Amino acid sequence: MRKKIIAGNWKMNVKPSETAALVKAVAEATKQYGNVEIVCCTPAIDVPAAVAAAAGTQVGIGTENCHWKDSGAYTGEISTGMIVDSGAKYVIVGHSERRQYFGETDETVNLRARAAIAAGLTTMVCVGETLEEREAGKLVEVIERQMNVGLKDVTAADCAKLVIAYEPVWAIGTGKTATPDQAQEVHALIRATLAKLVGAETAETVRIQYGGSMKPGNAAELLAKKDIDGGLIGGAALKAADFAGIIAAAANA
Ligand code: PEP
Repeated sequence: MRKKIIAGNWKMNVKPSETAALVKAVAEATKQYGNVEIVCCTPAIDVPAAVAAAAGTQVGIGTENCHWKDSGAYTGEISTGMIVDSGAKYVIVGHSERRQYFGETDETVNLRARAAIAAGLTTMVCVGETLEEREAGKLVEVIERQMNVGLKDVTAADCAKLVIAYEPVWAIGTGKTATPDQAQEVHALIRATLAKLVGAETAETVRIQYGGSMKPGNAAELLAKKDIDGGLIGGAALKAADFAGIIAAAANA
């Protein structure tokens, strides 16, 4: 039985001074959903405020990226050791916006993911195709490549800290959602690809989130699918009531 995980990805939308109020509102609105793992991934600069506000609640805090080196001359980057030291316990790696705007490749996703897992962070590795790739019939090829390269040398033992997020790029922030059947088809492909990497038994234990315009109104039907074990939420994570609506759907799935 895989525990559902609902994680918000705040992106560059919440200031440090606004952080505590949003985390506390999420904690308050979701107190009754102990069967769901609830996470807010915030900009790194918000993490201290988020960790303080989440103390003693069911909400975990994460960041939106990490570097793979322990320290050094990498201006603007944050290490996994810094994230752990800040009290955050989760990290998103390989989000499509990092791939699209900041030169992230499957190889750097792999370096970041392995460093994050080694540091003990629960690591949400994002994969997903663009509309162009889907329409060109390259869906399977793209997902298999992102999985095989992005998770190279990730072991079965590492999978205890691994979460995979399927985020079709065409559904992120666009209001277009993959249908539950479209999403399930890719989630099954992801699990089958993972099984080839780490074994079928371990692959069964790894949670696969769906991300892409998930909201309270469509969460239940997505989360009812066999291989959809949670959500990675952008826009709807910025309003506690909407985020809580998705968490409620996960709690009842
Ligand atoms: C995301 O950025 O991970 C995401 C899924 O965004 P949205 O929910 O806004 O589509």
